[in-house]
Parts: sequence; C-alpha cells; structure tokens
Amino acid sequence: MSVAERFEELYGQAPEGVWAAPGRVNLIGEHTDYNDGFVMPFALPHTALAAVRRRDDGVLRLHSADIGDAPVSLDVDALAPGGPGAWTDYPAGVVWALRDAGHKVGGADIHIASTVPTGAGLSSSAALEVVTALALNDLYELGLERGKLARLCQRAENVYVGAPTGIMDQTASACCTDGHALFLDTRDLAQRQVPFDLAAEGMQLLVVDTRVKHSHSEGEYGKRRAGCEAGAAALGVSALRDVPFEGLSEALARLDDEEVRRLVRHIVTENRRVERVIELLSAGDVRAIGAVLVEGHASLRDDFRISCPELDLVVASAVDAGALGARMTGGGFGGSAIVLAEVDAVEAITKAVVAAFAGAGFSEPRVFAATPSPGARRVE
Ligand code: ADP
Ligand code: MG
Repeated sequence: MSVAERFEELYGQAPEGVWAAPGRVNLIGEHTDYNDGFVMPFALPHTALAAVRRRDDGVLRLHSADIGDAPVSLDVDALAPGGPGAWTDYPAGVVWALRDAGHKVGGADIHIASTVPTGAGLSSSAALEVVTALALNDLYELGLERGKLARLCQRAENVYVGAPTGIMDQTASACCTDGHALFLDTRDLAQRQVPFDLAAEGMQLLVVDTRVKHSHSEGEYGKRRAGCEAGAAALGVSALRDVPFEGLSEALARLDDEEVRRLVRHIVTENRRVERVIELLSAGDVRAIGAVLVEGHASLRDDFRISCPELDLVVASAVDAGALGARMTGGGFGGSAIVLAEVDAVEAITKAVVAAFAGAGFSEPRVFAATPSPGARRVE
C-alpha cells in the first residue's frame, strides 16, 4: 500500500500531497560542525515520505508506519518544548518552530513512512523534520528557502526535542542534490554542490551500519564539545575554525593540556581534509580521496578518540580487502562507517567485512551502497 493510500485509510480523506526527505552520510568533516568548520555530506537514496493534508481546526495528527500505534492527536496552540520524549516530538517540534518564528501554520494530518535506518548515524531524525517542514512550507505557502527550513528544523531538534546537534544533518536533507556532495561552511552557512558521481568513475561508496551504539556516546559528545571550546578559549579564538592548518604546530605548542591538544589537532586537520577532498574531486582525482578518508579515521580514532572496535574493524578489514579508503562517519561509538571501493571489488570487500565481524563475535553489520541522491522534494 502506498503512503497516500495508507493516509486515506487512516484519516478518511486523500492527502493533498506526498513529500520525501533523505537521510545522509558525511563524506568528510567530522565533529567540525560545532567548531564553525567544514562538512561534506551527501544524501542517501533512503527517504522519509510524508503524506499530508491541512486541517483548519488547529489539530495536528501524526502517524508513523514504522511505529504502528494509532495516530497521536495534538493541539498546535499548546505545542511547547519539553514534549513527551516520543518520536512525535520531531514533527511536532517542526510545527512549533515554524509557528514560534511567526509563520502561519495551522493543523495537519500527517502520515510518515521512512526507509532511513534509525539510530545508525544516518539522520533519520533530520529526514523526519525536513519532510514535515517542506510539506508545511508548500501547503501553507510560507515561501521559506531550504537553508531557512533547515535552520528551523535544527531549532526543533535542539530546543523542542532537546538534542544538541549541529546544522549539518538538516541542511544535507534539505539542500543536497543528485550526484553531488554538499560542501557546507558551518560558520556562514555558505554552500557549494561538489560533483560526486562515483558510478561514472566505476566506483561505489558503501555504508556499513555496525548496528551498535555504545551507551556512553552522549556524555562523550558533550565532553568533546567542551574540550573544543576550552581549546578555542586557550588559543584566544572564537572557534577552532580560526586556527589555520599552517599554524597548527605553533598552536599546539601553546596548549599544555594533552587531551585538548589532541582535540585541536583533529579539528584543524579535519577541516584541511575537507578542503583536500574538494581539491581532489575538482581535479577529477576521485580515487585519491580514499587515502584522505583513512587518515580522517585515524584522527578520529587516535586524536578525537570516538571510534570503537566495530568501526575500527570495518575500516581495517575493508582496506585489507582492497578498499580505496574507509572511515567511521557520524558521531562515533558505533553507528556507521563508509567504504570507498572499485565496483569490481565491492563483493569481496563486503564478504571480508562480514567475515571479520563474525570472527570477532560481533553481530552482522548491514552493508548497502550509497549513491549521492536528491535532497527533499515533493513526489506526488
Ligand atoms: P539518527 O538521526 O541518527 O537516525 P536519532 O536518535 O537522532 O538517530 O533519531 C532517531 C529517532 O528519530 C528515533 O528514535 C525516532 O524517535 C525518530 N524516527 C526516525 N525515523 C522515524 C520513523 N520512521 N518513524 C517514527 N520515528 C522515527
Ligand atoms: Mg539524528
């Protein structure tokens, strides 16, 4: 049954339209987003779909095919941060953020079905927010541009849901385009679409979802953020973005806390790696980004220290089996890794990673190909 048909079955009327918003993977630029730095995500083929119809009585009804409960009914006037901590906080938070910014949004019936794996570091939450925001933007004729929608979605997640995330995920879901990675400067939010057509070059990018999420990840995220802020303060800059790569040794020499030194080194070299990847892609030297990915993984593992045995094993086993490069992606301590490979080598690499996991006694990872796909759009 299509999402439109299921909508009609649930709510007794056809939707006014159906929208899609993708999950994302970050090619390079990890933990740089809260340091005013550079990121480079691309959209996955996996999307959240939303069938939506306006209501004129101020009621918001929400249903997810992936949760299965009956629709949840909310009063849009009563929406306020500090929701129930349920999945409905994401779309309800978007309605709240739009209205809180003064946009005239009334009620709606919404039915969602998503193919974005949840909790795998692939931004199923941003897909949910952005699909809601785009549908309401179209139906209520708000005329908001995509970068603005992304910022409102981030506000929904930070303030309404209460998750301290940067601007990358929502911007990726809202603004990515087919066949491109999205360069985003998280300081001024300048964007650039960078051609990233792997198929044309005989390559593929695999996502390996380790299916683990180590429970200390949230506390560790907070510690890394605080450590980066301490580093910036000690160096007298507003954010680590302002430490130039050429000035790294000198900056490190001025820091006496070893932990802070490691964090600073990761952020400064990672921003440089984003620039490197753009240079290589622009020069048509796509295979050469593999080495940059491996270097980025080592930096996350040894300096930023947010990897885990499962992620390290993906990278080691994939590279051993002939991958051009691989690295963990996302927040760390589990979630997913990416692997860049020649199409001909994909099968052997996949087998090698799965075998390495079995050998280590880890549960079987989920491996799939990630083609750079379109961002959010209306589909019906
Ligand atoms: P990620 O964004 O990396 O997948 P998050 O923890 O940020 O992980 O977001 C996952 C949460 O988003 C889920 O726990 C759920 O509340 C919500 N979510 C994502 N997809 C759906 C869906 N299809 N239906 C209902 N809730 C969803
Ligand atoms: Mg998320």
